[in-house]
Amino acid sequence: MKIAIIGAGTVGTAIAYASAIQGVADEIVLYDLNGAKATAEILDLQHGLQFVPSVQVQGGSELEACRNADIVVITAGAKQQPGQTRLELAGANSAMTRDLVPRLIDIAPDPVLLFVTNPVDVVTFVGQESAAECGLDINRVIGSGTVLDTSRLRHRLATDLSVAVSSVHASIVGEHGDSEIALWSTANVGGAPLSLSESELADLLHEIRHAAYRIIEGKGATNLAIGLSTARILAAIANDERAVLPISTRHSFEGIGDVCLSIPTIVGRGGAVAVVDVPMNEHERAGLRASATAIRTAIDAVS
Ligand code: NAD
Repeated sequence: MKIAIIGAGTVGTAIAYASAIQGVADEIVLYDLNGAKATAEILDLQHGLQFVPSVQVQGGSELEACRNADIVVITAGAKQQPGQTRLELAGANSAMTRDLVPRLIDIAPDPVLLFVTNPVDVVTFVGQESAAECGLDINRVIGSGTVLDTSRLRHRLATDLSVAVSSVHASIVGEHGDSEIALWSTANVGGAPLSLSESELADLLHEIRHAAYRIIEGKGATNLAIGLSTARILAAIANDERAVLPISTRHSFEGIGDVCLSIPTIVGRGGAVAVVDVPMNEHERAGLRASATAIRTAIDAVS
């Protein structure tokens, strides 16, 4: 299992670190236009390999290092500055994606492409369009979506209710961004529904939507939790787990069109295997449509 990571910034490096510790791959490649940065991060990781499951870490500033990768994770590109929304990054990061995807498919002919670069739903859509032109099945092109946001929500609920985070079942769906919504109607702890008021639920969703802004204000980037979230998705693909995760994939909405957004999806060796038919109430369906509209508007702006 060869995993190539495009971008050796805070996020790419955290994904490499989490993946190495968890033994997700036999080989991890870190590629970045900034060769000195990539080389430094690779050396730093290599110096800890005595302490993790067997893995080779290599790479640099030559895309050739990604040849025959089974999975390519794209983290390269512009990141949010304090106060900036993810959608404001769409133009620059879509252009980068259109340039990168054909070159990647040229050297790694049948990969799963996993986008993390923001705005991840827009970039995943653009990546799918480019990949399809190169003959790659778009189910093999996915985004990290709201796996991270869902983990944020579950952590907050677990803390409030004093239960293990693994016993909290609740998902964030839609855009990985300001229009994301929580599926409160099916949220439960060990089968018991949540007993929170409407205003408590609204406050909680507001906090999850704004979590990244708070972290970026404090440390300039979010990287550790996205590193772990992405390693989780990589393990599901590498081990053909058929794990259900809210990754970003292609969905069609009547009157809106096609977008990429997150709904719980079965993830396996082929990328997105199937979308789970999650029950939603009318309010949640309307929220999901509003999220799809926001993403579609951003896609149209970069098309
Ligand atoms: P960063 O600035 O630390 O790193 C980005 C790296 O990309 C830099 O090292 C740069 O040299 C490299 N790069 C730029 N263009 C490149 C290209 N064409 N080819 C190869 N390398 C290139 O940024 P970061 O903090 O690592 O964030 C990276 C991206 O991840 C941003 O778009 C950020 O918004 C996003 N992000 C997504 C999530 C999520 O949940 N999806 C979470 C956190 C961050």
